[in-house]
This record gives sequence, C-alpha cells and structure tokens, in this order.
Amino acid sequence: MLTRMSEFFVRTLREDPADAEVPSHRWLVRAGYIRRTAPGIYTWLPLGLRVLRRIEAIAREEMAAIGSQEVHFPALLPSEPYKQTNRWVEYGDNLFRLKDRKGADLLLGPTHEEMFTLLVKDMYSSYKDLPLSIYQIQNKYRDEARPRAGILRGREFVMKDSYSFDIDDEGLAASYEKHRAAYIRIFDRLGFDYAIVRAMSGPMGGSRSEEFLAVAENGEDTFVRSPGGYAANVEAVRVAAPEPLDFSDVPQAQVRETPDVPSIDALVQLSNERYPREDRAWQGDDTLKNILFKVIEPDGTTHPLAIGLPGDREIDEKRLEAALEPAVAVPFTDEDFAAHPHLVKGYIGPRALGETSESKVRYLVDPRVVTGTVWISGADEAGRHVYDLVAGRDFTPDGVIDVAEVREGDPAPDGSGPLTLARGIEMGHIFMLGRKYAESLGLKVLDQNGKLVTVTMGSYGVGISRAVAAVAEYTCDDKGLAWPRSVAPFDVHVLATGKGDGIRTEATRIATELSEAGLEVLFDDRKASPGVKFADAEILGMPTSVVVGRGLKDGLVEIRDRRSSERRDVAVADVVAQVL
Ligand code: ATP
Ligand code: MG
Ligand code: MG
Ligand code: MG
Repeated sequence: MLTRMSEFFVRTLREDPADAEVPSHRWLVRAGYIRRTAPGIYTWLPLGLRVLRRIEAIAREEMAAIGSQEVHFPALLPSEPYKQTNRWVEYGDNLFRLKDRKGADLLLGPTHEEMFTLLVKDMYSSYKDLPLSIYQIQNKYRDEARPRAGILRGREFVMKDSYSFDIDDEGLAASYEKHRAAYIRIFDRLGFDYAIVRAMSGPMGGSRSEEFLAVAENGEDTFVRSPGGYAANVEAVRVAAPEPLDFSDVPQAQVRETPDVPSIDALVQLSNERYPREDRAWQGDDTLKNILFKVIEPDGTTHPLAIGLPGDREIDEKRLEAALEPAVAVPFTDEDFAAHPHLVKGYIGPRALGETSESKVRYLVDPRVVTGTVWISGADEAGRHVYDLVAGRDFTPDGVIDVAEVREGDPAPDGSGPLTLARGIEMGHIFMLGRKYAESLGLKVLDQNGKLVTVTMGSYGVGISRAVAAVAEYTCDDKGLAWPRSVAPFDVHVLATGKGDGIRTEATRIATELSEAGLEVLFDDRKASPGVKFADAEILGMPTSVVVGRGLKDGLVEIRDRRSSERRDVAVADVVAQVL
C-alpha cells in the first residue's frame, strides 16, 4: 500500500506535551500517533492504530499457532458474575461501575475470567469438549489510581486475554506451558529484552503465576534475578530459611490451646486486651494495618490466617472479609512463646515498614496450619508492601524472618547466586487459576465415568496497547521514534526532496514500485523543505527511508537506516532489492 503524506491524517508537534513523563509518551504524542482525550484515555490516530494492529496481528498469529480461538465479549458487562466471585468488591475503586435505567448494576470489564467461565459453562458439558483455549483482543477498563505515561498505564487499554479449560491438573499444566511458549515467541518478535519472573497472583487468585517484564529503567515493577536463573518480582520473592523445622514432636493439644476460630471482633478485643495501645512495639508507625496469611495446605485447599498484631484495633475488616472465610487469629505474649518453644516466631523487620521504624512486630504461626505455602501480605494504606513468604516446613524456630524488600547481593532463595535488582514494565502475565472461577460459577463437565467434575482454568494476558508504548520506549532516541520492522506502521518512508518535476516523478515511481513489491510505503510528497521532511521522518520513525533528491542526476538515491543512522547511496534500479 502507498500512503501519501500530503493526504495523510497526521500532524507532528514541535513541543513536548506538558504531561509527558517518559520518552515513549512524548514521542507518540509529538509524532501524531495518539492524542489524549482524558486522563488515562487516548485516541488512536492512523499511525498509532497501524502499530497497534501489527502487534495485535502478532498476538493473533501466536494464539492461532497454539490452537486458541478468537471470540469477542462486550466491554459492558452485567455485575452478577462479578458479584458471585466477589470481584465486584475485591476490585475496589479500580472498577468502573454504572447503572442502567432500571437501576441494574453494570461494569466495564477490567478482565474477563467470569465471562469466559460462564460462556464455556453455557456451551460445554463433557470432558470430550476439553481442552479448550479461547481468547479475545479487547478494551479493558480500570480506574487506575495513577494513570501514567500515556498508553503505558491507561484507564482504557487493549489487552489480549486468553483462557484455558482443562479437565485435570496435567491438562492445565500443558495449557500453561503452551501459553508460556507462545508468549516467549510474541515478546521475542516484539524485540524486547524481557525477563520471565515469579509473580503474585493478586486479585486474579490461583496458584502459579509468572510475569513477562520488559527490562526498562522507568518500569514500575522491580524484580530480582540471579546468575543461576532465579527471577521474581520483588512482590513474590521467596525468603530463604536457614534450617528446616521439625514439627513432629509438637503435641497437637498444646498447639490447639490457641483459640480456634475467633471472630474478627474477638481478635480485636483479645489483641487490645493483651496489648494496650501504648505498649505496642510499632507505636507511631501506622503503615502496617494487618497481616493476613493465606495458608495453602499440601492438598491445595486454602484458608486465611490472620495474625494478631499488637494494637490490632485498626485491623482492616473488609480485607479479612474479602478472604471469605473466618480467620484464625492469634495475639501473643512472651509467655506464649515460652510455653510453646516449637512455635514459630518471626518478625516483620523495619525494612518491611519502610525505613520509618526501628521496632519489630512479632507474629507467631500455629504449626497446625502452616504445612504448605504461606503467603503473608502486609498492606499499607496505599495497598503496597505485599510480600510473599514461603514457609511451612522451612521455618526455623525462633528464626527471624525478614520479609523486607530484598537487596542487591542478597542470596537467591534457591541458592543460585547473588540477586541483582532491576526494573521492568509488565507486558504479560500468565496464571494457573485452577478451579477458583469454575467453582464459584459452577463450571462442571461430565468425566469419563459420568461424574460431574469442576473444570480447571488458566488465564493469560498481554498488554497490547502497553506494548505499543513499550516498544517505542525501547527504540526511540533523542530525535524521535525508531520502530523495528516487525511493528512499524510503514516499512519504508520515501522522501522526495529538492525541486524539479524529475525528482517528484521518479520518487512517485519508486514509491509505487516499493508498494507493488508488497511493502507498506509512506510517501512524503508534500510541498515542504527537505529540512522539514527529514525532521518529520526522524520523529515518525520508519525503519528505512529512501531519499530521492540531489543524487538522482547521477542515478542514485540515498537509503537511510533510522536506528543506526547509516546512510548509503544505491543505484535507482537497486532500490527495491535493497529495501526488501
Ligand atoms: P500492572 O501491575 O501494570 O497494574 P496488572 O498486573 O494489573 O498490571 P494484569 O491484570 O495482569 O495487569 O493484566 C494483564 C496485562 O494487561 C498486564 O500484564 C499489562 O501488560 C496489561 N495492563 C494492565 N493494566 C494496564 C493498564 N492500566 N494500561 C495498559 N496495560 C495494562
Ligand atoms: Mg494493575
Ligand atoms: Mg502487575
Ligand atoms: Mg499482572
């Protein structure tokens, strides 16, 4: 296709947009790829839309290659499914909620697990129908607290989200691996330097999850990696424990002395009785409101475990309620520790609280329930400071467990060497959801024996619009955008420079020839000075330019490579072969 600049809907800007925080944002706006409509909400102009479509095409090809089929949901969704899984509440302020004229609650989809689960429930009923993988490329809506950097973190954005449905765990593992491989191909094709890191599942739930982070200094995520291949988002670093703990001689009766399942009220009361406010070790530091363990038993069942903290009067009840089940909560004294030498004592160190406090907050874990993975999440008011500990049998008695942010040089938990810290942009996220959604929405199929079994699911997302910004961020320089051929809006930019009909006619011919050879050609046929055309070509960032100008009298045109700035003269007759 041949597109003439003289007719093309584009305007480059001389000035940086006032709100530009990162280079990709500045250049995408200045080069006329996107325009801001409202905070975190952007309009795609023809150039930007072309890049978006090319990235979508890459995602589609790789989804097709693993047999995933495309569907398309509405963005405007009924609230009932999201109420059923509790995400109507859990998503909090991030959810765009609205009402229809009859007063019914609706939402703009932030992600579509519920809808996909129900669609499959609606259509499928037998193990013979599985495995199944379906996906969509869709606008998502999240009322982000801090929309930033243009389309990097928007309130409306484009996501490719896929979902897998399997009858058993092996099936899910295979589906997960297929997606992981497809994501590797997608991000390789986009040309990112990326890391695949262990991740927290967050509001998505589920067991295993990994993120694909594009390594970038101004990324919002921090991750660690070791020379031996360990990589994790700092939110999900496993804390190594020095020695395994032997619980075998812990008398169960002794352990059960602690109250079994007290109500939240009882917890708060008990905690306040034992620890009057002025005694609390962390007085003056209100950042940590509660500690909530999610205990994952060896058989996969989970239940929450709230740990009583001194001064827990401010315990965040909503958060506990969101965990759906009654919490086991235990406030402790020194006598408790003295009486139960085998119980685990740990500390949330000052680093976990940000450097604001020298004090330690003590917690104690009832080994009766700590047999598998323990997730500990301590949230500050902004919802930050979420740490993941893996314990159970890895805890040492009286060991100090530092759940603080890891530091450069800390040993990797799997012994694979010292950790280095880096920053990244989350480009993709894959989850083994397991049966969480299928269970709460009742997605069951008949197995080989005619028995109803709950389906197990995975969910997999790629930030398509974010990828436009991230590729731009990687490749741009101080002159403008500089696209790789794989996603550039046009393959080649032909510039007619200099006066004279000869040049214009020959440039038109060359542009036509290139487009007939199957290339997407942008042809600068405007009546503008060479200086303006060169500057625009640098801002717009096509990988290759063909300058038809002065050299023509000697039968030559100049080919410029945007990224390397390399220039070379080639004979007119060779242009197509040289550009292809
Ligand atoms: P983040 O940590 O950046 O907020 P997330 O973990 O909330 O992302 P997921 O729910 O895992 O995002 O969604 C899948 C993908 O969608 C992300 O990996 C990311 O690429 C993209 N994405 C998420 N939020 C946004 C947003 N506000 N703007 C653009 N892309 C987004
Ligand atoms: Mg988010
Ligand atoms: Mg994230
Ligand atoms: Mg994520």
